[in-house]
Amino acid sequence: MNRLKTASIATTCLGFAVLLILGCGHHRISGSAHAEPLKPLPLDLSKGNPNELGVVPILEYHELTVAKGTHGGYKFPLAKFRADMERLYKLGYRPISLHDFVTGHIDVPAGLSPVVITFDDALRGQVDFDQQGNISPNCAAGVLVDMHRRHPEWAQRAIFFVLPMKGSEVFFYQKEYSQQKLKWLVDNGFEIGNHTLHHLPGMRHWGDARVVSEIAGATALIGKYLPGYPVDTIALPFGVFPRNTKLVISGAANGVAYKHICALKAGAGPALPPSSKKFQAYAIPRMIPGNGQFEIGWWLTYLERHKAEKYVSDGDANTVTVAATQAKYASIERIKKNKLFFRTYQPLLVKAAPPKAG
Ligand SMILES: [Zn+2]
Repeated sequence: MNRLKTASIATTCLGFAVLLILGCGHHRISGSAHAEPLKPLPLDLSKGNPNELGVVPILEYHELTVAKGTHGGYKFPLAKFRADMERLYKLGYRPISLHDFVTGHIDVPAGLSPVVITFDDALRGQVDFDQQGNISPNCAAGVLVDMHRRHPEWAQRAIFFVLPMKGSEVFFYQKEYSQQKLKWLVDNGFEIGNHTLHHLPGMRHWGDARVVSEIAGATALIGKYLPGYPVDTIALPFGVFPRNTKLVISGAANGVAYKHICALKAGAGPALPPSSKKFQAYAIPRMIPGNGQFEIGWWLTYLERHKAEKYVSDGDANTVTVAATQAKYASIERIKKNKLFFRTYQPLLVKAAPPKAG
């Protein structure tokens, strides 16, 4: 969990000045454990033109079900969830943690694209245990485990914005397994985020004290079941923000403090990455399941038809690489803050100039 240590600065020239910032973050669910490089990896354009300011799909699922009948985005067939995952895999997406996304540590192979998978409300179809206390294959987490088993390069990464109802304290609707499920998720590479205590509507109209007690209350209950786990992300119920938006970032109630690195909204569209000037850490959009307009299936098709808008990795988690024409959209300030190198290239050039030692 020792985040970010060293930083050094050098410059290089490829017809224009490029600022290079070095560093590497390590934390609980980092996608890889590679040694800290002293410079960016060589730029390899053979896998396609990297675009590390392109958009990233952040998927927002609620209940997943194996029951027959008509379902919508909030109760989505598990078979279709599995089909979504397979489609993402075939389109070259690889899951990363929300934490890695927000901190700019986007670690997927060259030519491939990141995806962030999120679940709201701690429903049973997301994490279901069988009678022996093992993860069921017939729940979303079971599908993700199976994806990783069949495609080892598909990492077990997703975040669960849980809803600990005060009083009953049930996560994922199997009270007897509340603690085991949370522990199982964290042990298997998944993340836990805050979704408030009671999921009440009307937060926009609340006073400050009520807002912080709803948020800190959830932090406290997650901490009770997962002592020491750093809950530092939140998804706002219904995507509704309090009038005092600063309370989404930090606050304290009843002796429990919270500090969030990001806040997620409800369904909208794909998200710009942190290296983009337009990135807003406390208003990150997500996409809801389905094939209708502006739903996940629709957006995935859209991004295949508009490939220039899609995030495509350079294969180097410590370096942000974009075509020279895109450089003006980069937030150099945030790239520095995230201890990353920044480099641009001419898409028609095959060779990038090696950076000077520095
Ligand atoms: Zn919710």
